[in-house]
Amino acid sequence: MNLEDIFIKRDALSFIENEVKKTDNEVETGGILMGYYTVKDEVVITHCSGPGPKAKHRKYSVTLDSAYAQKFVDEIYLQTNRNITYIGDWHSHTFNDLTPSRTDKKELNKIAKNRLSRLETPIMLIVCYDDQQLFKKSFYYKEKKVCEFKNLYTLDCE
Ligand SMILES: [Zn+2]
Repeated sequence: MNLEDIFIKRDALSFIENEVKKTDNEVETGGILMGYYTVKDEVVITHCSGPGPKAKHRKYSVTLDSAYAQKFVDEIYLQTNRNITYIGDWHSHTFNDLTPSRTDKKELNKIAKNRLSRLETPIMLIVCYDDQQLFKKSFYYKEKKVCEFKNLYTLDCE
């Protein structure tokens, strides 16, 4: 079964928008995505983290602060009685092309192969803030292929 629909809570999206604005498109930024799957195989993103204080921001890539990311995942997981789990990452591009780069594909492959992350189908949200607007595209990695979600919706309430 293929994934088609992904939802992101408006709070989480606003958080991302603020993080991206901070960079002035000089460097990439990013963070963790947490959420859940519905019985209809829809993905719901409920929480997003920032990059963390020790993240490495570059023009065409970002490396998250892994200790910070792990702590964020553990905290939300416990706070939500293990209902909300790590589902993937988000990052910004410094130019308005939201196609996953070769590095992005490698990263997805790495997450999918990592037994510790237990993520067979990692999600990747790519955004760009341009012309006062946040542009976004969402992807998932399955059977060594990067696929784009058909629909990305913003969720206004629970
Ligand atoms: Zn990228």
